[in-house]
Amino acid sequence: MTTTGSLHSWDVSTGVDGPGTRFVAFLAGCPLRCLYCQNPDTWRQRDGTPTTAEAVLADVGRFRRFIQVAGGGFTVSGGEPLLQPAFTTELLAGAKELGLHTALDTSGFLGDRAGDDLLDHTDLVLLDVKAWDRATYRRVTGRALEPTLRFGQRLAERGIPIWLRFVLVPGLTDEAANVDGVARFAAGLGNVQRVDVLPFHRLGAAKYTALGIPFPLADVEPPTGELLRRVRTQFAATGLTVA
Ligand code: SF4
Repeated sequence: MTTTGSLHSWDVSTGVDGPGTRFVAFLAGCPLRCLYCQNPDTWRQRDGTPTTAEAVLADVGRFRRFIQVAGGGFTVSGGEPLLQPAFTTELLAGAKELGLHTALDTSGFLGDRAGDDLLDHTDLVLLDVKAWDRATYRRVTGRALEPTLRFGQRLAERGIPIWLRFVLVPGLTDEAANVDGVARFAAGLGNVQRVDVLPFHRLGAAKYTALGIPFPLADVEPPTGELLRRVRTQFAATGLTVA
């Protein structure tokens, strides 16, 4: 019996979705509403395409050799994959059966929904920690930070490596104390292999226009090189590897 989930799309890409060239399945639906979200078209689960895990895995299988040679793997992303934990578990387990390295790309907000069986099939978690300051986190995402911290700690206890991602938005997430908080938390976990500081950009603005919703950060400029260097240095100062 294969689980049916709501799939937004899939892609084969090389970049920040984990090591090497990867098959990335983007699931539909996300409980957060990040002000800088580049994929508002993934927000609603009902806008995705009902698809069985078996069908997704058949597509993954067609790229298996290529991905293995490229030192890559399979990543389940979104939206928020933990909104559909059974579907996500079946995808990760199936990718492992195909002999692929697996990664889960998540905000961690629904980390409590990730069963041990899901984590048993997860080699790497790409964890977005969007802010440390509680009020800033809520302003950025509309939700609370605590579940993400709890999930990070659970991953540390299980020894599952994390690539931590932090989106740098001038005037929103760039306060030195906010960055320091994320950096100290990450360094304290002991399982954060690398940190990606991602500069805010406005490339997703056209999607908001297409959906008829205003892009909240339309007037915000991307960070300067100087600000980006300062923030990367703050992370590196805690002993973390900054990509
Ligand atoms: S968690 Fe990701 S998909 Fe969800 S709103 Fe935030 S940036 Fe967008």
